[in-house]
Amino acid sequence: MPDAPVLLIVDDDPRARGVVERELRKRYGADYQVICVGSADDPLRLLAKLRDDRRLVSIVLAGQSMSQMTGVELLARVGEFHRTAKRLLLTDDRYGPPQESILQAMALSHIDAYADRPATVPDEKFHLAVTELLGSWAKSNLPGPEVMRVVGEEWSARSHEIRDLLSRNVIPFGFYPADAGPGKALLEQAGAAAAALPVIIMFDGRVLENPSNTQIAEAIGMRTSPGPGLYDVAVIGAGPAGLAAAVYGASEGLSTVMLEPEAIGGQAGTSSHIRNYLGFPTGVSGEDLAVRAYTQAWNFGTEYVYGNPATGLRGDGPERVVTIAGGDEVRSRAVIIATGVSYRRLGIPSLEALTGVGVFYGAASSEAKAMKDREVFVVGGANSAGQAAVHLARYAARVTMLIRGQSLAESMSEYLVKEITSTPNIAVRRGTVVTGGTGTCFLESLTIQDQASGVSETVPAAALFVLIGAEPRTQWLPDGIQRDRWGFVVTGTDLMAGGHPPESWPLQRPPMFLESSLPGVFAVGDVRSGSVKRVASAVGEGSVAIRLIHDYLRGT
Ligand SMILES: Cc1cc2nc3c(=O)[nH]c(=O)nc-3n(C[C@H](O)[C@H](O)[C@H](O)COP(=O)(O)OP(=O)(O)OC[C@H]3O[C@@H](n4cnc5c(N)ncnc54)[C@H](O)[C@@H]3O)c2cc1C
Repeated sequence: MPDAPVLLIVDDDPRARGVVERELRKRYGADYQVICVGSADDPLRLLAKLRDDRRLVSIVLAGQSMSQMTGVELLARVGEFHRTAKRLLLTDDRYGPPQESILQAMALSHIDAYADRPATVPDEKFHLAVTELLGSWAKSNLPGPEVMRVVGEEWSARSHEIRDLLSRNVIPFGFYPADAGPGKALLEQAGAAAAALPVIIMFDGRVLENPSNTQIAEAIGMRTSPGPGLYDVAVIGAGPAGLAAAVYGASEGLSTVMLEPEAIGGQAGTSSHIRNYLGFPTGVSGEDLAVRAYTQAWNFGTEYVYGNPATGLRGDGPERVVTIAGGDEVRSRAVIIATGVSYRRLGIPSLEALTGVGVFYGAASSEAKAMKDREVFVVGGANSAGQAAVHLARYAARVTMLIRGQSLAESMSEYLVKEITSTPNIAVRRGTVVTGGTGTCFLESLTIQDQASGVSETVPAAALFVLIGAEPRTQWLPDGIQRDRWGFVVTGTDLMAGGHPPESWPLQRPPMFLESSLPGVFAVGDVRSGSVKRVASAVGEGSVAIRLIHDYLRGT
């Protein structure tokens, strides 16, 4: 039996410390070892000893004011010893706004959360803060149930795709390299020793040999083709914009179907920490947000069709018909295009060949754990690249950001710039570009060029995360849906060049806000020309489109 993970309390006030200790022992004593010390007991040495003893530390809770160092100072150093431990600052600001120093510590990611010390017994608000942190820590640190066991070659592109797909769709799984003992044993037991990899062994013993996304979805009981008949709304894409449209459509009585070929949450689902979405003062993981929204849409009755992308769209009298890969068709009275954007690629052949085997496009959250103690590079200087670097730095030995410009501040939010400059294992190389890479089975090195001097150097690299912008996912749309020169869908008044709608527009009224050049087909979120590329605006547009569809269906 491994030792129980540790919950460490560091507080100088013996009375307050006693209350926190009692509360934690009562709730978590069966599964966690609660250790309680003061700041004079050298908590940093204790953290080092726990690390050397290979103990897991789940949360460090520290009092705000202590004699030897402040709680923030201590918590900011926890990562040196236990990178994945959560850090909770214990405060007494019950009746006032949090102090400036606490807000700064949050922005710099020196602490994960703050909570008032328990004032009553039990104090559920305090326990909620602890439980939320424990939940998120346990997800990546404790073994969980495995609905699927994936056995594959660790560095094969399809193994990476499947791991990414399962983790983004929050399907509990374990990955077992096919060339190691446990992986070989699983294949033997399943009678699949000669099967094409990757192999998925289901919880009930079924074996899927090198399955497609659709086969994986079907194996866990998800629907992969639409129902017959006419829907009120077909929502294409389950990113934040599509999920919002599905929630509002289904909740307002419209029969709603949602198509998604990959994973719920879209780009937002790949973000490890969204800090600016309304209602989540300490931030929310994209995965968490996506699962909540998906469940909400599902509870209201949205039908979810998974695994195949939309490949075409046409009008058929008053009906709109979306074709999907595999040949099925979805018939609906209105359509919402919410297909977002995909990452711009480097276009360097030697690196393209290593996509998924060391070169990743925006997949920082699912691969981060695998980067433990490795040399990792991030290309890009915008917020998404900054967030990826900060997240990867929790695991990697070092993260090097490669940016073309001379300053991160040119393209990144101030809070992230501060977080990056204060994270010791993130380095920023300015005025640099990647020009090549090597690796037979996986990425081994990168060639980096200094733009000013033209000098190139080759550096060892385990992974390269590319976050350099994005292109709209609109190639599947017919010519009748007008797009701007970058391929984004043009909507509303932007279609009224010269004061009148496009020639193909068949109605007396002008296109509504968010409506495309085909009546009844709306575009929302990142895919829309002129949209603000944020989660909140995508969600807002998804909900507004439903309001407009009510008007459209009433014939106004
Ligand atoms: C790493 C990262 C971090 C970010 N952090 C923040 C942040 O902190 N705050 C913030 O406000 N914004 C952030 N963003 C931006 C934000 O995530 C996007 O603005 C938002 O996700 C856009 O939502 P969307 O629904 O319009 O599109 P997307 O999120 O791109 O979703 C589109 C969906 O459509 C699906 N799709 C594509 N083609 C088809 C097809 N043919 N048929 C069916 N489905 C299809 C895709 O699989 C995808 O699921 C971040 C983005 C990234 C990449």
